[in-house]
Amino acid sequence: MDKKIYLSFLFLLFVTAYGWSQTQVIAHRGFWKTEGSAQNSIASLMKADSIGVYGSEMDMWITPDGIPVVHHDADATLNGEKLIIQDTPFATLRKVKLANGEPIPTVEEYLDAFSNCKHVKLIMEFKTHRSKEREDVLVEKVINMVRERGLGDRVEYIAFGLNFVQQARKLAPDAPVYYLNGDLSPKVLDTMNLSGFDYNLKVVYNKPEWVKEAHALGQKVNVWTVNKPEDIQKIIDLGVDFITTDEPVRVKEMLQAQ
Ligand code: MG
Repeated sequence: MDKKIYLSFLFLLFVTAYGWSQTQVIAHRGFWKTEGSAQNSIASLMKADSIGVYGSEMDMWITPDGIPVVHHDADATLNGEKLIIQDTPFATLRKVKLANGEPIPTVEEYLDAFSNCKHVKLIMEFKTHRSKEREDVLVEKVINMVRERGLGDRVEYIAFGLNFVQQARKLAPDAPVYYLNGDLSPKVLDTMNLSGFDYNLKVVYNKPEWVKEAHALGQKVNVWTVNKPEDIQKIIDLGVDFITTDEPVRVKEMLQAQ
């Protein structure tokens, strides 16, 4: 056998046997720890795109009048008054300003901005609502919006709620769908046809064997929210696929230095 072919063969064998751990970075709630940005703002999405990371994460709720919006917390504050997002009509919620002055974006606006992004994937989290019916409306509306814009191969779905991951898997059979809640093993996620787990770093420290088990089942592994240098290094060493972080530049630099 030609020596070059032989060496390539050995290399492939090595990669197959040990896995090619190319860890990638996801900016948690967008890249918001920077000038002019704010968590879950459209600016944070565009800034995540500009720093060349794999993904930009965001969170979604639906208002009682049926508008999917982008926000992390279950509530928002307007003139000192606490508004529960799933109970507040969109017109009122729209008056809330984010830390950078943007209004709370709708998912439609977010997707329109995302269609101009060059690099990032959008990691879309469904927040757990009071009723399954509202959740079902949200997931259906969001998946239709993604489909209408031809963005299906650029988004991934994540959720703590079993109802959400099951609905997303059903309505978007080809989309990556990850489970966040930390309580199910890769074997169980496999029976649900999910793409893998996206768990808190404490769960992964307690169950490091789940990383290999997931990979053996062809799943991918994401860990959140990994911000401190010592944690970033430990999680990189576990050979995970994605690190979700509030410090995307730091994680990217540490990965490049490996
Ligand atoms: Mg989130």
